[in-house]
Amino acid sequence: MNAIESVELSVAYGAGRVLDRISWRAGPGEFWAVVGPNGSGKTTLVKTALGLLQPQSGTVSLFGVAPRRFDAWQRIGYLPQFASPAFPKFPATVSEMVGLGRLAGKRFPRLLNRSDASAVVNALGRLGVADLANRRIGELSGGQRQRVLLARALVNRPDLLILDEPTLALDPDSRESFYNLLAEMHRQGGSTIVLVTHDSATAGRYASHLLYLDRTVLFSGTFHDFCRSPEMAKQFGPFAQHTICHQHDGEGRSCAK
Ligand code: ADP
Repeated sequence: MNAIESVELSVAYGAGRVLDRISWRAGPGEFWAVVGPNGSGKTTLVKTALGLLQPQSGTVSLFGVAPRRFDAWQRIGYLPQFASPAFPKFPATVSEMVGLGRLAGKRFPRLLNRSDASAVVNALGRLGVADLANRRIGELSGGQRQRVLLARALVNRPDLLILDEPTLALDPDSRESFYNLLAEMHRQGGSTIVLVTHDSATAGRYASHLLYLDRTVLFSGTFHDFCRSPEMAKQFGPFAQHTICHQHDGEGRSCAK
């Protein structure tokens, strides 16, 4: 069962169409990088998949179900763009913030119990920030905060994790360790990961699959296939194609895999 599947999906804001007939499938355990220039429709695509925007035409589904009928939101972890609360007096503690992620699967009255508390401890431990549990969100560095928000997205052990430009606010070291963490999660298997990024030069170091968008699909498949595609060589030029693919050995000459 695909985590996300879109068929001929078009989306418009008013009169302006920003996604044009997107057909794409993200299967179990795949790590997708959704890449493209600013304004190419990446955020629009994930928001439509999550039911936050309506298609103009075509369809999209989550685990085979249209977003408006989907009711298993605890299966999905979502880290939206610019999610970091930047204001220094943000009152919640790290544990409380991550605990909010447990509410998604609950019906009224929405109360956290002992197993929720242990899920919070596990998620923080997994991200190496267990020691921050009682700190206030507003006191954290950008890198710490992003790990906490990722812990919140992961607290239900989701089958689908969607991250929209999660490293924008991070310094290069935190960015690297954040990407490594995602790669590690991918190696451990299980979840489908969808990473939206404008950083086409880096994504191929970590992700297995590439969706290259520019309002339409320029490419959808593995990085390996991207590397070998004559169409992509034509589209990007051979140099840029291989800067994106990360499939080469140290000398950058031959395909490593
Ligand atoms: P990306 O994530 O690739 O940068 P977006 O999906 O955010 O692209 O935006 C795609 C296009 O849609 C851009 O031209 C953007 O200006 C436009 N757009 C995004 N959000 C809105 C909105 N709420 N109203 C009108 N136009 C929008």
